[in-house]
Amino acid sequence: MQEAVKKILEHDGENYNREGLKETPIRVERAHKELFNGYNTEVKITTFNENYDQIVMLDSIEFYSTCEHHMIPFYGRAHIAYIPNKKTIGISKLARILDRHANRYQIQERMTEDIANELTKALGNPLGIAIVIEGIHLCLRSRGVKKQNSVMKTAKMTGKFFENVHTRAEFYSLLNLPKFN
Ligand code: ZN
Repeated sequence: MQEAVKKILEHDGENYNREGLKETPIRVERAHKELFNGYNTEVKITTFNENYDQIVMLDSIEFYSTCEHHMIPFYGRAHIAYIPNKKTIGISKLARILDRHANRYQIQERMTEDIANELTKALGNPLGIAIVIEGIHLCLRSRGVKKQNSVMKTAKMTGKFFENVHTRAEFYSLLNLPKFN
């Protein structure tokens, strides 16, 4: 890993032996350990038997990921909701599942899809799942087309959120409530 970082620095026109860069390869190695810890991890999920059968939602969950096409960060926030089918999970698990998929080389479309799939499994076929992700892609801003104001949005709706326009409308109205934190 450290040799690879030296090669990149050299390729970019740097002298990796100069003072400021000396420790960079090891720092990059450590940073990657953290940034890409979504591989080979599992989120242990305990379910609770509950009769609550309406929307459960956690909004504005921040994430940091890496675009797999350019190895440049993208980050943003996710809004995740589900309707239980007699089973709920600890609300923090929604954030953990998000992080697990964000901390990899990713594209936003697949991340959205994969979170929905993992959640469906964990919840034992919930009555519906709704996910909206808003991503700021630095590969769009710092290079290429250089568009500074565009936010990429992806959405995945399953079950009742997909089939029933009223349920979906309720999800979006919860999403648009004024913030009080
Ligand atoms: Zn990219």
